[in-house]
Amino acid sequence: MSLWKLIGRAARLRCPRCGRGKLFAGALRMHPNCPACGLRYEREPGYFLGSIYFNYGVTALLVTAAYVAGFALTDLSPRVLLWSLAVFCVVFPLWFFRYARAIWMVWDHFVDPPPAEARDTEQRDR
Ligand SMILES: [Zn+2]
Repeated sequence: MSLWKLIGRAARLRCPRCGRGKLFAGALRMHPNCPACGLRYEREPGYFLGSIYFNYGVTALLVTAAYVAGFALTDLSPRVLLWSLAVFCVVFPLWFFRYARAIWMVWDHFVDPPPAEARDTEQRDR
């Protein structure tokens, strides 16, 4: 499966395997399995710990870029810039939580796809 197709599924918060089932049942609550194909989303205990790295990394990159751009291109005082970005550091990861998990799942399915026998069984069951 192509990485771009998987990224498209993550952007739509859909199952990385079938692209049809929704990942989330509520704002922060995930379905345990894909409603369409039955894929178990949490492959092992602590599976979603990796999504924290994506969330932190994206937040840090955006804050760094915004600080440099704000410092170089605007007349904002450093105090205003820092407080604005501090608020961003709290709000953005909460909003990005769902996408970080979806990106993590895409990354995991791209790097370590489910075993072939599991895929064959899953495709037969569809
Ligand atoms: Zn699915």
